Amino acid sequence: MTRGEPGGIRGSGKPLTVEERLYADETRPDAVSHLGVSDPSRCPGCAGKECVRTCPAETYRWSDEEGRLTIRFENCLECGTCRLVCPHANITWRYPMGGMGICYRYG
Ligand code: SF4
Ligand code: SF4
Repeated sequence: MTRGEPGGIRGSGKPLTVEERLYADETRPDAVSHLGVSDPSRCPGCAGKECVRTCPAETYRWSDEEGRLTIRFENCLECGTCRLVCPHANITWRYPMGGMGICYRYG
């Protein structure tokens, strides 16, 4: 692999870690959430809390004390995983407005 190539090597000769790659990305949060839950009353009874367990950006958090899900949409990497894994098809998902959201920087 060469420098500048996706998955490549920087000048130091060391491959970048996933965390270093994510840190290089830029996020422009929208004013309103592009993620939501259509029926929050289903979440307390959801055994797996798949959205919490699978989101790579820890966008979803479950609070036992409050008995509810919180969504930190600013973290979202727009991978789409959460809308696929929710067993109740309970997640509303759209892309952020044009120019907002995650901006990936490769290399
Ligand atoms: S996976 Fe779906 S039903 Fe379960 S906690 Fe997440 S949004 Fe709620
Ligand atoms: S789209 Fe991906 S990064 Fe965004 S909230 Fe869903 S699982 Fe997390």
